[in-house]
Amino acid sequence: MDSLVAHYTANKKRRSQDAYSHGGEAGCRPDRAIITYCAKIREAWKDVSIIIGGIEASLRRYAHYDYWSDTVRRSVLLDSKADILVYGMGEKPILEIAQRLAAGEGLRGIRGACWRTGKAGDVPAEAALLPSFEDVSARTEEGKAAFARSYLIQEQNACPVTGGVLAERSGSQFVVHERPAEPLTTAEFDQVMELPYARRWHPRYDAPASNGKRGIPALQEVLFSLVSVRGCFGSCAFCAIAFHQGRRIQARSHKSLIREATALTKHPDFKGYIHDVGGPTANFRLPPCEKQERAGCCAGQDCLGATPCPSLTVDHRDYIALLRKLRVIPGVKKVFVRSGIRFDYVMLDKDPAFLRELCEYHVSGQLKVAPEQVSDRVLALMRKSSHTVYDAFAAAYAKTNRVLGKKQYLVPYYIASLPGAGLREAAEAALYLKETGFVPDQVQDFYPTPGSLATCMYYTGLDPHTGKAVYAARGERERRLQRALLQFNKPENAALVREALTKAGLPADLLK
Ligand code: SF4
Ligand code: SF4
Repeated sequence: MDSLVAHYTANKKRRSQDAYSHGGEAGCRPDRAIITYCAKIREAWKDVSIIIGGIEASLRRYAHYDYWSDTVRRSVLLDSKADILVYGMGEKPILEIAQRLAAGEGLRGIRGACWRTGKAGDVPAEAALLPSFEDVSARTEEGKAAFARSYLIQEQNACPVTGGVLAERSGSQFVVHERPAEPLTTAEFDQVMELPYARRWHPRYDAPASNGKRGIPALQEVLFSLVSVRGCFGSCAFCAIAFHQGRRIQARSHKSLIREATALTKHPDFKGYIHDVGGPTANFRLPPCEKQERAGCCAGQDCLGATPCPSLTVDHRDYIALLRKLRVIPGVKKVFVRSGIRFDYVMLDKDPAFLRELCEYHVSGQLKVAPEQVSDRVLALMRKSSHTVYDAFAAAYAKTNRVLGKKQYLVPYYIASLPGAGLREAAEAALYLKETGFVPDQVQDFYPTPGSLATCMYYTGLDPHTGKAVYAARGERERRLQRALLQFNKPENAALVREALTKAGLPADLLK
């Protein structure tokens, strides 16, 4: 996780806990951890090659909008002074880096990596030049347009088949961004996931932290979960998965997952429950179409955005077959699916078998899904399907559970202050929630983290795909008002709700 996301909420308040740290204590890492750690390494060892990677490096590899400082920062490769930055999942580039270092060779030209140079002549001739850091960081209309243009070029080059080499100048330096690494084959993915992992935190965390708690809390969530896929062709504007794992689906084999599940049953703490079989999107186990496998991702076309691509293949049979095999393994009592389910993909499936089996075997009382917003205009901007698809799914879910004789709930997640959403759209969502009788306990605020399309919209006020202006709620007050509307029934929100409705030009008692 990015150190700033770990430390601060979407409203820039310091978090009191960090699930990835000893005892869940906050503040064990520095902010902008990569930069600090690289400086410390350089202090101790002057001549080593420093390789950075992981989500913080990956999503900050280009000049990026940094919400916490409200500035555009240059590539973290320059700020950290590391030698090379590995982006994406990293297994292939890290092997190549190790081989090259062992052979005493240079580190340029490795797919899935970025390197830096102070000489313009080093930049490969085939590299497309992005707008410079100076261009994209200017807080002018032109600067914001350049940022949006740069984002679009990055997006169009994020596919391992169709993406090219890019270069970004920053002062006298250049960051050269090599083509994305090839996705892992199923055999390679199986091999990576079946390495002999310890499945426990480092023994040093057995001792109590200063808050008296032991271990790393985040491990509990994943200890008995199976990673079955990587990548997502979903294209949600507020998600940066395509910039990290890519739009191509990489799936593990059934055999490998069965081996891992069988091994889990021998774990001393295993109680018979596999908590998840998924990845970024649990029910995407197959490529979106045959063409993507052969010719790569389509630029300017979403597989499953506001409108599904006519070539999208919808098929849950492989996932159903996998879940069936896992739930009959001796020692396994239940197999749950906790990773996100794309309900619009479920609704496109003519065969109701997946929804039926999901409800019958894989939901533990409530299924969390993410319609995110109610306004179709905002959903389209966020590249999500119409809210009517969510309504249809909710009805199908309720009916399926009724037929099965199960009392299971659907818990929808909504995000306040998404780009495109003003107080009117938040009020529209509140009215919908009032009518359906469900008011969420928790509402997420849009978090403009590096690398997403929505963050580009938030910063520039532009949709890079159309060049059209996009409204974004930026001030703390409006964000509070939008959140209060989505939780209009909380007594402590009453004054905020009245203020929000009045500001939206609506009757102050609309939600009474
Ligand atoms: S479906 Fe989930 S993982 Fe995929 S792009 Fe949308 S939010 Fe991201
Ligand atoms: S043809 Fe459609 S489904 Fe296939 S990769 Fe392109 S956008 Fe996705």
